[in-house]
Amino acid sequence: MQETIRLFDADPYGRTFESSILRAQVPEDRLSGDGETLTIDLVLEETLFFPEEGGQTPDQGTLGGCPVTDVRTEGGVITHQVEIPAARLGEFAPGCRISGAIDWDRRFSNMQNHSGEHILSGLLHNIYGFNNIGFRLSPHTVTLDFDGRLRPEELYEIEEKANEVVYQNLPILADYPDPEALAAMDYRSKKEIEGRVRIVTIPGVDACACCAPHVRRTGEIGLIRIMKIQHMGNGTRLTIVSGRRALQLTRTLQGALEEVSRLTSRPQEEIGEGVRLLQEENAALRFKIGDLERQITRLKVQAVRPGERNVFLAEEALSPQAQRDLVNSLCADRGGMCGVFVGSDRGGYKFIIGGGSQDARKGAAALREAFGARGGGKSEMVQGSVSAPFDKIEACLLAICKV
Ligand SMILES: [Zn+2]
Repeated sequence: MQETIRLFDADPYGRTFESSILRAQVPEDRLSGDGETLTIDLVLEETLFFPEEGGQTPDQGTLGGCPVTDVRTEGGVITHQVEIPAARLGEFAPGCRISGAIDWDRRFSNMQNHSGEHILSGLLHNIYGFNNIGFRLSPHTVTLDFDGRLRPEELYEIEEKANEVVYQNLPILADYPDPEALAAMDYRSKKEIEGRVRIVTIPGVDACACCAPHVRRTGEIGLIRIMKIQHMGNGTRLTIVSGRRALQLTRTLQGALEEVSRLTSRPQEEIGEGVRLLQEENAALRFKIGDLERQITRLKVQAVRPGERNVFLAEEALSPQAQRDLVNSLCADRGGMCGVFVGSDRGGYKFIIGGGSQDARKGAAALREAFGARGGGKSEMVQGSVSAPFDKIEACLLAICKV
């Protein structure tokens, strides 16, 4: 099959085109649709749709007014996956002319972000000799992996220089040099490339083998920002963002900053300090609550059924630590089997029972037998959960303590 003519090579700013259909196929696994729509594979003579290639997700848009859901390339042949109404299948036959339109906003954003990546990778290569070893460009993230480690200050210097290249508004050129010229050229390339090699050049900054569309001049990138630095082994992954996406992301982040600023009643530049103070306040409050719980525990231990050896208590809410402390205090004070049940008759209870002079496992066994309770432990202490009215639970436990 003849290689598809890549219209985006010569005309990266083209948005609409017309072409002849060379091949149309409905793969067997797609025949069993809803009967009303079909997903068809189309090969055209020429196309503006950039396929999934070189780490970049494919263009979206329409062919014959129908949505293009995927674009792939193999051996130079580009296949478009298109969702069409089954009734229009005849319009998508080999030999038919078809009109296409790409989603321009998505494409231009990809061009801005891909060109931004070339500038960063080129500078990392020129200044530090590092190589780009991975690139991923999707609608959600752009990552650049390189085979070296740099400190954030060093990377922000690179970022500064990359934006200088944007301000200089340099041309970005793409061509297919002949083999001799190519052999004499110094350019970045991730792998050995067979056939014609397309070189994307930013004069004085970078030359790189690349198949993707780029903006005409660096000024169109607008802004290049490194958003995240992750060291991985001896390499580094940068999450980067350029162009309109950088504008949108800044807006989103500013919204988050404004919210935290409002919640902490601090100007945006001081929200770190505001959050730190909140954390300190929070820690002080926790300490105070712990102290109050201990005081309440002491009062409860004294107040509940004075003189009784075996005491069981129900509480609506208590931290697990406070529950355990209360059980230990009761056992120490009264000497018998004592337990604390946290919860409600309706929602059930989480219990801790201390054995005191008795075996706490007897208590757990009695609750299991009477109410299907779960849980267990050692003779000194058991814990678990049970769903029954507390007065019945208490009566059950007091009965076995008397035996
Ligand atoms: Zn590239």
